[in-house]
Amino acid sequence: MSERVFLSIGSNIGPRVANCTRAIELLAVQRRIVLVRKSPFYETSAWGKEDQPPFINCVVEVETTLEPLRLLDNLKKIESNMGRGPSERWGPRVIDLDIIFYGDRIVETRGLTIPHPHAHERGFVLIPLCCIAPDLVHPKLKKTVRELAGILKDTGVLRKVV
Ligand code: ADP
Ligand code: MG
Repeated sequence: MSERVFLSIGSNIGPRVANCTRAIELLAVQRRIVLVRKSPFYETSAWGKEDQPPFINCVVEVETTLEPLRLLDNLKKIESNMGRGPSERWGPRVIDLDIIFYGDRIVETRGLTIPHPHAHERGFVLIPLCCIAPDLVHPKLKKTVRELAGILKDTGVLRKVV
């Protein structure tokens, strides 16, 4: 059984757009991941820890037969293949790949929380997500992505770039 999964992609070191594009290519060639849709790219100011360069962010929809922990493992491998070293929480990074939604599953383990615990408060997740899946319902908050974007307080999304 494959699941419909949404991933958030971000970069704020080096060629940021190329880094995000590369990460999408590396996802798309995985045997058990099919790329369905991708959002436009946005330039966004850093969230949580603001004294760092702005990010490029986007969101992709994939279909996968990988279970959540296996998927997270694959995402971490892509991050390290792309040169991401250990970094401080919310610090600058070549690439960041987060699982936002995994079908309507709720996962709460030590190393993995789905839906992503900050998804609903981050403009850099909700605004791109709203472009590709506005009617998707947050399985915990029971609100659509469009509704969540409408009540968003974060003003960090600067501009669409591609
Ligand atoms: P952040 O993405 O919040 O800036 P990191 O990318 O450094 O932070 O991730 C830290 C850890 O968060 C990862 O090693 C992973 O185990 C954990 N994590 C928990 N939930 C998720 C999720 N939904 N998607 C990706 N990582 C997650
Ligand atoms: Mg991450």
